[in-house]
Amino acid sequence: MPRVFNFSPGPAALPEPVLRQAAEEMLDWHGTGMSVMEMSHRGKEYIGIFEETEGLLRELLAIPANYKVLFMQGGAIAENAIVPMNLIGRTGRADYLITGDWSRKSAKEAARYGQVSVAADSADPPGSGRCLGITPRSAWKLDAGAAYFHYCSNETIGGVQFHDIPDVGGVPLVADMSSDILSRPLDVSRFGLIYGGAQKNIGPSGLTLVIVREDMLGHALAHTPDAFNYRIQAEAGSMYNTPPTYAIYIAGLVFRWIKAQGGLAAMAERNQAKADLLYGFLDASRFFSNPIARNARSQMNVPFWLKDPAQDEAFLAGAKARGLVQLKGHRSVGGMRASIYNAMPLEGVQALVAYMKEFEAAQG
Ligand SMILES: *Cc1c(COP(=O)(O)O)cnc(C)c1O
Repeated sequence: MPRVFNFSPGPAALPEPVLRQAAEEMLDWHGTGMSVMEMSHRGKEYIGIFEETEGLLRELLAIPANYKVLFMQGGAIAENAIVPMNLIGRTGRADYLITGDWSRKSAKEAARYGQVSVAADSADPPGSGRCLGITPRSAWKLDAGAAYFHYCSNETIGGVQFHDIPDVGGVPLVADMSSDILSRPLDVSRFGLIYGGAQKNIGPSGLTLVIVREDMLGHALAHTPDAFNYRIQAEAGSMYNTPPTYAIYIAGLVFRWIKAQGGLAAMAERNQAKADLLYGFLDASRFFSNPIARNARSQMNVPFWLKDPAQDEAFLAGAKARGLVQLKGHRSVGGMRASIYNAMPLEGVQALVAYMKEFEAAQG
């Protein structure tokens, strides 16, 4: 079976050269006679892999020296608790902006650890839980005494993405970037903390990335587990407990691949071209549509609907027959969703659009 174009929202497609290299190195990494999976995380070889991986990430994102990079476990859903456990203690309060399912979940979990205030809920209509855009900045209710302001830079399910970093004054910004980190250049210095699970745009599941400004550390609630305490993990170089060693190695290969492609500026250009092609087609189509406000459309996850939902199954079956897979929309919103992360080549989106054109034409 040839490789398919995989539009999965996550775990998602990885660059083929990365998978090939991992396969080549599976049984014998660089003459050690063992797989990276079998190495001690404290051994010389693995430390080398680990340091190179962190170095590449710092280089790609131009992470300032006063930020720690932590390689953790538990995914973004665990971070929904770990973030407030570590940060909310400074003032006991935090602001959360809701723009979709993921940020809604984050706010709900955080409320168990402190006083959470919803800066705005973008649900449209109110109470529906469905967000088709982002509440304008002028309508946000902000607390100058919040320990931090949390938002999700890209709502993977809804397909709503920030095109800019929001300005909330002096309150530290905290962002869930699970599904758009490394998709474009980023000014890390604007943030107090950035986190994300790896399985969208970085590597295998099991690895969670945290980038935290040093002055944010040291406010953990007393009952914070040591393994989830940022300060303890920072002091231990992410090795207070055994980190997800193999996932970190794959992430390192992905970082190398991104660098070889020209870094984040090149990624942004490719991602823009893919998104322009797909949204351009959707907007011109009379059969397919995307309802998200233009200033908040996601470059990474593009939900779309068929005019006649009775055709959904036929559409998916025809796509699969053409090697275009995992296009079914999230169960909570239905329809379709094309996730087009860094590893999706332009050819994949071209093939999808060609198929959609053909499908629409057949509707007569
Ligand atoms: C996938 C995703 C999550 C959940 O990640 P887990 O690894 O399942 O914890 C949270 N937030 C965003 C934005 C996501 O895309």
